[in-house]
Amino acid sequence: MKKISNYIAGKHCEPHNNEYIDNVDPATGEVYSLIPNSSSEDIEKAVLASQEAFPLWSSMGIEKRSAILMNVADKIESRLEEFITAESKDNGKPLSLARNVDIPRAISNFRFFATSILHFSSESHYMEGVGINYTTRKPIGIVGCISPWNLPLYLFSWKIAPALAAGNCVIAKPSEVTPYTAYLLSTVLEEAGVPAGVLNIVHGLGTKSGDAIVKHPKIKAISFTGGTQTGAYIAKTAAPMFKKLSLELGGKNPNIIFADCDFDEMLKTTVRSSFANQGQICLCGSRILIEKSIYQKFKLAFIEKLKRHKVSFPTDPESRMGAVVSKGHMQKVLSCIELAKKEGGEVIFGGNQIKMSAPYDNGFYIEPTVIEGLPYNCKTNQEEIFGPVVTIMPFETEEEAIQIANSTEYGLATTIWSNDLKRAHRVADTVHAGIIWINAWLIRDLRTPFGGVKSSGVGREGGWEALRFFTEPKNIFIKH
Ligand code: NDP
Repeated sequence: MKKISNYIAGKHCEPHNNEYIDNVDPATGEVYSLIPNSSSEDIEKAVLASQEAFPLWSSMGIEKRSAILMNVADKIESRLEEFITAESKDNGKPLSLARNVDIPRAISNFRFFATSILHFSSESHYMEGVGINYTTRKPIGIVGCISPWNLPLYLFSWKIAPALAAGNCVIAKPSEVTPYTAYLLSTVLEEAGVPAGVLNIVHGLGTKSGDAIVKHPKIKAISFTGGTQTGAYIAKTAAPMFKKLSLELGGKNPNIIFADCDFDEMLKTTVRSSFANQGQICLCGSRILIEKSIYQKFKLAFIEKLKRHKVSFPTDPESRMGAVVSKGHMQKVLSCIELAKKEGGEVIFGGNQIKMSAPYDNGFYIEPTVIEGLPYNCKTNQEEIFGPVVTIMPFETEEEAIQIANSTEYGLATTIWSNDLKRAHRVADTVHAGIIWINAWLIRDLRTPFGGVKSSGVGREGGWEALRFFTEPKNIFIKH
């Protein structure tokens, strides 16, 4: 069976303790590779390698660093099919999604930050008659990047690329549930010209190798994407060491639909915003709020569309939804559906596990699920499910829609559908969220700030925000 290796100091290596964890194919439920169960000794080795590499990498000049990161993108692109197939197999997502979204976006992340760094500039502040301040922005040193399983290489590279572009050395841990494309990335680094020790990829459990990254005193910043509870633990652990923290956490995003919207476009997009990647995107709209006058029309049309939304194994070209990421996650999502029923919700579409025929009969498939009749403040409407489950709720007034939208502890993204732009702006201005789409969903410009408010996180990624996070500003004043 294929054994994935760690990549430390420019070398593929076994974990210190020689222990491995099973890596399961969600489409079949079979173990298909083994990943290192790394420990604090492996993190220590990665820190030593980073310390050695930092002087060279941080001082090599932005043109050279930029060219190397462009090479990384090119190397991934030259093995495109291999990366696409690996991402789909590891995560359970349709091959078409890995082809159209995940891997192209990972390539873009490297190209985007490789070129951004060429244009990144620091500030100066002139004080009339007094003097001038200028600010330098230097790399932090060694930084830790920890990413989740839902968009594996996409989110891994979204952190690594700006960290490296800014001149830091990185110790990165992908989710233990989806390690494969991070491993493939480690196989292109040497050829792309990344010096040994600059990017170290250490695999393993969050509670062991992830925790060792967060606790290591020489790792000065942590960029984390994952669940809110894990984020709270990381903040508690890292804060007394005064580490810089960027936390991208959970969401319970509202999708607010007014009667005057372009119905067909809204419907088509709402199917995607509800169920893309099996509902496992932090930006998916899991609470659909519909103006009362079109509630019945929406409900019937939505269900009609879902009847044609095929759930199938990831390599089926007709598959619109694949497997959810793991057996544990499938059981969690199914238990959330049971809770919704106990809370008085009516499942008006889906609600069940799907048993596929062999060889996919042990895979983790769930029907797209729609639930109605629940109050906005019940657990189902307040807690993140992160699966193919949405609730639908009618509202009568704009104020009511905003009140429901803002009722959760989260504040990541909101989608608003209306052709009354004055109203759309008003609602956008009032809802608690870091990201708003009006008459659209998941259109991303990598220059824009990305992140949430309340329990959805601290800090922003993307564009200059990411480069600012991964650099330390120093202000210098000179008197006239
Ligand atoms: P987790 O919080 O369980 O894990 C995220 C990463 O952190 C994984 O690599 C995990 O390793 C690691 N980890 C777990 N425990 C620790 C620890 N104590 N110390 C250090 N690292 C740790 O999240 P999931 O992987 O389940 O991802 C789903 C969550 O991510 C959802 O809540 C979703 O909303 C959120 N998310 C947020 C996004 C955003 O931009 N705001 C984007 C995408 C997802 P391991 O896998 O081994 O446990």
